Amino acid sequence: VAKGAGKGRWCRYQSELHTAIVERLELRAALTEAVQKLSFSVDYQPIVDMRTGVAVGFEALARWHHPARGPVPPELFIGLAEETGLIEPIGDYVLRQAAGAVARWRAERGDMSAPYVSINVSARQLRTPGFVGTVRGALAAAEVPPDRVMLEITESLLLRDQEPVWAELSELRSLGLRVAIDDFGTGFSSLSYLQQMPADVLKIDRSFTETVASSRRQRLLVEGIIRLAGTLGLDIIAEGVETEAVRTILLDMGCASGQGYLFSRPLKDRDVLGWLGDGPAPGALPKPRPATD
Ligand code: C2E
Ligand code: MG
Ligand code: MG
Ligand code: MG
Repeated sequence: VAKGAGKGRWCRYQSELHTAIVERLELRAALTEAVQKLSFSVDYQPIVDMRTGVAVGFEALARWHHPARGPVPPELFIGLAEETGLIEPIGDYVLRQAAGAVARWRAERGDMSAPYVSINVSARQLRTPGFVGTVRGALAAAEVPPDRVMLEITESLLLRDQEPVWAELSELRSLGLRVAIDDFGTGFSSLSYLQQMPADVLKIDRSFTETVASSRRQRLLVEGIIRLAGTLGLDIIAEGVETEAVRTILLDMGCASGQGYLFSRPLKDRDVLGWLGDGPAPGALPKPRPATD
């Protein structure tokens, strides 16, 4: 009796699968073409001192404008770019754009009040031989001092390819770049790992930040993360701060830096300087983490 229905379901499943595969192939072809034409851009989201609202840095976020579909969210294309290797030219593009952007901010605002730029780096980029040289080259070409740049690596990636990735990051840190653990709380770092990670900053994932105003349990958890970061000498940045209530709670817990729609959505490059205005000079970069052992 159920056989007919089962078959119907199977057919529907097959055709859905087929559609998904075709869509993915189309997206892949479009992404390949976009890389050839470099039809990407980079937006910059302020990272602010939540006590004053002044930006200390900006996170560079890749944007792809598909000719027919319009903007494609990074969630859809970054993973695909990773699988296909296209992340290398895309990552390179973002790196160069971001370096050029900081150079302009420095030229416009002077060295002391220029914000830093924070760049997301994927697994595949870190595993590419010569990545350190690529980063060095991009900063040298734009004449950007390494201490104006932070690299964001997701917690899960830091745990995956530990040996090669940690060595690479240590080298970059010794050049003066900062390293942030991105989306913290979504991986499963043990305390002993966290203590040894070659990182300066911990970014609390939005999934934790957004709930602090609604649950006491969550509040205690985030407070624990902030204390832990302090103990380990890591600076902390909260992602996804959307409301005044969340901002106040985080400040009370001792988390001073944050980013989120409350302060600003990611901005077009040309709007960054206007957004900064001629307000007070942003603070310095987060301090490098003292050597551990
Ligand atoms: P992420 O590194 O955790 O970046 C933060 C994401 O949260 C950004 O999404 C940002 O627009 C969004 N966001 C910021 N504030 C708020 C807020 O208050 N509320 C909400 N709901 N969202 C907020 P976006 O730009 O869509 O990027 C998504 C992810 O794609 C990034 O997460 C990052 O993992 C990845 N990504 C973006 N650009 C690049 C890139 O150039 N290279 C690599 N490897 N990954 C990238
Ligand atoms: Mg990030
Ligand atoms: Mg993040
Ligand atoms: Mg995130």
